[in-house]
Amino acid sequence: MSPELSIAEDRSCTGTSPWRELHDRVMMPNYSPLDMVPARGQGSWLWDDAGTQYLDFAGGIAVSALGHANPELIEVLTRQAGKLWHVSNILTNQPALELARKLTEATFADRVFFANSGSEANEAALKLARRVAQDRYAEDKYEILAFENAFHGRTFFTVSVGGQPKYRQGFGPNPGGISHLPYNDSQAVLEWFEQYGDRACAVILEPCQGEGGVTPATGEFVATLRACCNRHGALLIFDEVQTGMGRSGALYLHEKLGVVPDILTTAKALGCGFPISAALTTDRLAEHLALGTHGSTFGGNPMACAVGGKAIDIINTPELLNNVEQRSRQLVSGLEDMNQHHRIFREVRGIGLLLGCELAEQHAEKARDLMTLCNESGLLTLVAGPHVLRLAPPLNISESEIAEGLKRMEEAVMKFTRLAE
Ligand SMILES: *Cc1c(COP(=O)(O)O)cnc(C)c1O
Repeated sequence: MSPELSIAEDRSCTGTSPWRELHDRVMMPNYSPLDMVPARGQGSWLWDDAGTQYLDFAGGIAVSALGHANPELIEVLTRQAGKLWHVSNILTNQPALELARKLTEATFADRVFFANSGSEANEAALKLARRVAQDRYAEDKYEILAFENAFHGRTFFTVSVGGQPKYRQGFGPNPGGISHLPYNDSQAVLEWFEQYGDRACAVILEPCQGEGGVTPATGEFVATLRACCNRHGALLIFDEVQTGMGRSGALYLHEKLGVVPDILTTAKALGCGFPISAALTTDRLAEHLALGTHGSTFGGNPMACAVGGKAIDIINTPELLNNVEQRSRQLVSGLEDMNQHHRIFREVRGIGLLLGCELAEQHAEKARDLMTLCNESGLLTLVAGPHVLRLAPPLNISESEIAEGLKRMEEAVMKFTRLAE
C-alpha cells in the first residue's frame, strides 16, 4: 500500500458490499457500520458473504461473551423456542424465575427486575432510586450524581444521566436533578455531598467506564462513594452492563473493588447476544417498586431468560473466570511488547477482557483509523472515544486465538505508523 494514500481512500479500495450499500438507502442514518457485513459466526470468528474470515475482538460490543453460535446456548434457546416464546407480565414463566434465582444466589441481591437492554435496566434502577427517596424521605430528595464521560444508555433519562453532553443535546428540555463530576475525583464528590447533603438521592457509575475510554474506577474512589451514600441516605448504583458477567474475571467487577452497591444493572453478556437485561437489588429497596410502578412487555421473556440462565451457569465457573484472567494477561503483555517496538500507545489499561489502548499524543483522535486498519487485517476491534482502541473478545477465547489477534493487530499497527509518517 502506498503511504501517500489516506486511510479514507484506502478504505474505498476494499470495495463495498451490496448489503452495506442497502444500509445507506433503507436505514436511518444514526449509525455508520463498517463495510464488512457478516453473514455467519462461529466461536471467536465471523465470516462475510465473500467468505473472508475475521477474528472478533469486538464481541458485539462486549456482548458475545461465549462467542458466536455457542452450541450450549443454541440448545437451550431452540428447546425453549419449541415450548413457549412470550407470555408478557400478566403471567410469570419458569425460565425467568430460574434466572432470577441464579442471579440472586450469585450476588448480594434478593430481587430482580427484567428488561431488554442496558438502558432500560438503568432506567429502572434510577426510577427505583427516586421512588425510595420520595417514599422514605422527602419530595426534594431527587439529586442524582453521575460522572463525566459515563455511558448509561440512550433513553432520555439515561442520556441525561450519562456524561457525554452531545448525546443529550438537541432533544428539548432534559430531565433535571442530575449533576456530573470528573470520574475518580473523590474530593469533588465530598464537596458535592457537602452542597447537596440531604437532597442526594443516588450516585450512579460504571466501575470501569466502557464507552468513555475504558477507565477503571479506583478502590479509593468507590469506597468514598459508598461512605458518602451511607452518610446521606443515598443509593449507590453500579452500572455493570459492560463490566458484568465475567468480563473482569469476577462475575461482577464490584466484587473485586470490595464495595457492594445498592442496585446493580446487568445486560450485555447476560444474554450473550439475545436481548435481556436486569436490575438487581435487596428486599428492602425492592419493596418500593410496588405493584404497578414500573413494567415492560418483553422483560423476562422466556427465550431470553433461558439463554441467560445457561450463560450464567457457564460464565460463573472457575474455569471460565480463570480463562478471562489468563487471556487478559496474555493480551496485555502482547500489547505491551508491541508497544515497545512501535510506540503508538500512551497506555494499555482496563480489566480482564475489557481493554483500552490509548493512543500516544502524536496519534490522538486516530482510534477509528486504527480500528479500520485492524478490520482490513481481519481483526474486529472497537473504539472508546477518539483516542482509545477498545478490545472485548469472547471470554472463552483460546490462547492461540489471542496470539493470532495480536499478530493481525501488529500488521495493522505497522500500516498505521507508516501512514502517520
Ligand atoms: C451498552 C451500555 C449501556 C446501554 O445498553 P443498551 O443495551 O444499548 O441500552 C448502558 N451502560 C453501559 C455501561 C453500557 O456499556
